[in-house]
Amino acid sequence: MDSSVYVFVEDLRGEGVERVLDRISGYGVAGVTIGAVHHASRDVTPHGLSRLTLRHDGAHFVPPSDLFSGLRLRPTAGYQNALDGLREACSERGLKLHGWTVFLRNATLGTQHPDVTVRDCFGDRGSLTDLCPAHPDVRQYAVALSRAVARLGVDSVVAESLHFRPLKPQRSFVPLGPMDTYLFGLCFCDYCMRRATDLGVNAEVAREECARIVGGVFDGDPPAQGEVTRAALTAYAGPEVVAYARARSETVTTLVSEVASAVAEEGSKLVFIDSTGAVKGYTDGLPSPGLAAHDAWQLGVDLVALGDLVPAFGVLAYARDAARVADDVGAYLRSVGKDREVRAVLRPGHPDSDSADRLVAKARGAKAAGALAVDFYAYGLMQYPVLDRIPAALAEAL
Ligand SMILES: [Zn+2]
Repeated sequence: MDSSVYVFVEDLRGEGVERVLDRISGYGVAGVTIGAVHHASRDVTPHGLSRLTLRHDGAHFVPPSDLFSGLRLRPTAGYQNALDGLREACSERGLKLHGWTVFLRNATLGTQHPDVTVRDCFGDRGSLTDLCPAHPDVRQYAVALSRAVARLGVDSVVAESLHFRPLKPQRSFVPLGPMDTYLFGLCFCDYCMRRATDLGVNAEVAREECARIVGGVFDGDPPAQGEVTRAALTAYAGPEVVAYARARSETVTTLVSEVASAVAEEGSKLVFIDSTGAVKGYTDGLPSPGLAAHDAWQLGVDLVALGDLVPAFGVLAYARDAARVADDVGAYLRSVGKDREVRAVLRPGHPDSDSADRLVAKARGAKAAGALAVDFYAYGLMQYPVLDRIPAALAEAL
């Protein structure tokens, strides 16, 4: 069974390429998934260069100039020599190298170019972190970025945030229900509205409905009850809003298709990760009831359509329960097709795994459900004793 450990460039800078790879080799994993393009974050790193690591938006390589000449959006410069020697060091140890790429989550680019970010139903651009996948400049950037990472000589380009993102305010003391938050998070930029209109949706009616409902809660209406489902959303916001939300899939599917083709042309392959599993279970490993594959449409991700276009998928199995991990993997395979490669991404420690046995059970569950690989997230975020659980989990999954 294939496997890898997710690694941040800050891990390599802190401990050195040789030391990190020696340790990972010792776990018996098949590869490394390196954060080649990452987003800003402030993370507790128990064995890092500093115990609190401040990450910046950045591409950690020198972008080939031919790919970005003439484009308005260019990669934010990160640690441009951070990956030097990594490919060779992996080869020496027989490790595969995968290029983890965060595409549309980039507050630096969004702040420089607010017009390429999402616009809510009130006409406001309050999420400069979120580049809109419908914007032509964003799409050109995403395709060029995928080529740039593929040219690092990676075995795969692992795509994160190559779809719409959910709304996550840092503070809100308005009791918005899940459906209210969902409607508030829909993008109504000119490009999104045009694409929906082309698909026969009355985009302006959808926007007005969203503004009416969310605005009503701001004015004191009771918030929506219950989780987001198509049926509940239809009852709450009407068919035009649901049609608008579904039209977002076309935007994402066509973008992922272009990226997958570009990556293949560069001699690598795309592994597509949708964030739904993280939306559900990131905080506590207790995901909300709907399986990730069934709720991915909410971010514009049509797994059935993508199954024909993308060779491999990563499932963020952020759950404590091994049965849930197996259920999520199984539902993914039923959506994308049994012949697709599905990789289960597991967190070996807090908050998902409180023991080696629990991690082992999840690796076993993922394999039984049909996963072809397990990936462990992430080197710099987990304590060494937690990382030491990986060999047992791999032994179970082999
Ligand atoms: Zn948009």
